[in-house]
Amino acid sequence: MQIKRLRLTGFKSFVDPADLRIEPGLTGVVGPNGCGKSNLLEALRWVMGETSAKSMRGAGMEDVIFAGTATRPARDFAEVSILADRQGEDDELEVVRRIERGAGSAYRINGRDVRAKDVALVFADSATGAHSPALVSQGRIGAIIAAKPGERRAMLEEAAGIAGLHVRRRDAEQKLRATEANLTRLDELIGDQE
Ligand code: ATP
Repeated sequence: MQIKRLRLTGFKSFVDPADLRIEPGLTGVVGPNGCGKSNLLEALRWVMGETSAKSMRGAGMEDVIFAGTATRPARDFAEVSILADRQGEDDELEVVRRIERGAGSAYRINGRDVRAKDVALVFADSATGAHSPALVSQGRIGAIIAAKPGERRAMLEEAAGIAGLHVRRRDAEQKLRATEANLTRLDELIGDQE
């Protein structure tokens, strides 16, 4: 998957709509302290389904909404979208996440309302996502070196694009258990009839 554009509105310090074109290859973000470099990386992780407010450096998820400054009032919502090319697919992928105060997050894929889980699966299958090793934030290299074997394995699975299979396996196991329960109940009912 090649992310081609990142668009932010009201997300953290990006109060005005901002459009960033992302070219193929390695992308670095440079700028003075506090200019919003980490906020950009967080916007990428957030639109890909990040659920941890702590990893967004906030107490709650609504903290990603522009909180206002001395000269500008706070916003009621934040929205981030990415546009990407998918390998082997003709159509572009547009993913939008929006959060409104008091209303939580909503996601859209190519204009259709979807669940957070659908977004996570799309990215997991493309070996990217909120926890992708391709997003190298401050302290991340140290964290990889210090990681326990199990944590390192999870990172490798993300990189290999198989993380989504675990989610599907859990779903399939749940369905299997429900079906087994139904069959048992059916056997009981048939037994009662005889
Ligand atoms: P450094 O180089 O110091 O790590 P940086 O360029 O990565 O800095 P960020 O940490 O991305 O900068 O941005 C920090 C700025 O974002 C701060 O000025 C902070 O006030 C602002 N900020 C964070 N969250 C919000 C919010 N919800 N509303 C308004 N501004 C915010």
